[in-house]
Amino acid sequence: MNTIVKNGKLLLTCEDHFETADQDLYIAGDRIAGIGAQPEDFTADETIDASGMLIIPGLINAHTHVYMTVLRGVADDVPFEKWLFEGVMPKEEAMSSEEAYQSARIGLMEMIKSGTTCFNDMQMFIGQACRAAVELGIRGVSGRGLAGDLSEPVPGGSRRINEAFQEMQDFGKEPLLTFALAPHAPYTCSEDLMRRVPQLAAEHGLRLHIHLSESRNEVENCIKEHGMTPIAWADHCGCFDVPAVAAHCVHVTEDDIRILAEKHVSVASNPASNMKLGNGFAPIPEMLSAGINVCLGTDGAASNNRLNMFHEMSLMALIHKGNKEDPVSVSAAETLRMATINGAKALGLDAGEIAPGKLADLVFLDLSEPSLMPFNENTDPASALVYGATGAEVDSVMVGGKMILQGRKFVNH
Ligand SMILES: [Zn+2]
Repeated sequence: MNTIVKNGKLLLTCEDHFETADQDLYIAGDRIAGIGAQPEDFTADETIDASGMLIIPGLINAHTHVYMTVLRGVADDVPFEKWLFEGVMPKEEAMSSEEAYQSARIGLMEMIKSGTTCFNDMQMFIGQACRAAVELGIRGVSGRGLAGDLSEPVPGGSRRINEAFQEMQDFGKEPLLTFALAPHAPYTCSEDLMRRVPQLAAEHGLRLHIHLSESRNEVENCIKEHGMTPIAWADHCGCFDVPAVAAHCVHVTEDDIRILAEKHVSVASNPASNMKLGNGFAPIPEMLSAGINVCLGTDGAASNNRLNMFHEMSLMALIHKGNKEDPVSVSAAETLRMATINGAKALGLDAGEIAPGKLADLVFLDLSEPSLMPFNENTDPASALVYGATGAEVDSVMVGGKMILQGRKFVNH
């Protein structure tokens, strides 16, 4: 299937900024084939008129838990440990697979309607988020959350690892899905599990997805138990010997930042969740200076409570300015890169920018929405998207060359 997208305004990635161009876009199958000039041997099966639309690369939510969407609002304004152990975990345990599927559907619909084309999920109900993602047509990376101990037979780490591989077998042929191994966190995983998971990831060519250094207590307890910070501990156990996405990384030392940079770990920052649970601010400016690939996530709806990457971008660009009393800290362009090309890099995807050869994961924003006005030759597009847009401007969404939301309506199914 070949598609020409005509009359749209394309958002193009440059070295350190973004530009727009009024050019046609050529899509062959699931990838961008050309911009401006028609590629050789290209015959269009379909033409999309994108008049009045700003076309941006789809946003990539680098850390979430979509099965938790029905837990939105169940434990707000309570301390982190109370939120997790008394609010979220008992309700998760009482949840059925069908509820997890419905929950994932709601969460993914919210994401698509606010311009997300790919989500990096850590889940507890194998197959349910995958099933919802396939139905809605969104791209996803699924990681069964791993916890426990390898020595206990049931329920434990081994069972969860088996479930992770079962899901890969069940959904491995789905073109929009890839998989990661997702040890939940050092405080829920035994040492043998923390060591075994990266070995398995290396054997199977998988990425690793983990929570690290989210709260002050977690760091203090890890130092008491293992004599090192969660990041040093994860490194010690081999977690960074494979491509890894570490969510949060709020309470980190200079040494932690050095380890993350040296081991090319991608940090998925979740500013709303970190603030809502009173965990603080990740040192994003320091991480960017160290050359770390910082990407952006919403976390689950129980701790955000939105799954809207426009909201998350706005927070990311604002909070560090406020926290550091420095208006040049974390620019709009840096933030937009986190939500697009950095997210793609973290997940090993050829996506996150409008360029030939990249996956055709695109979001069409309605430039007639007041929140995007004025949008003219003097407008910095990154600033318009990060500080002005809310996600309500999303008119249509394409994933892998196929429209999944058109005129604000779901069209995949
Ligand atoms: Zn999380």
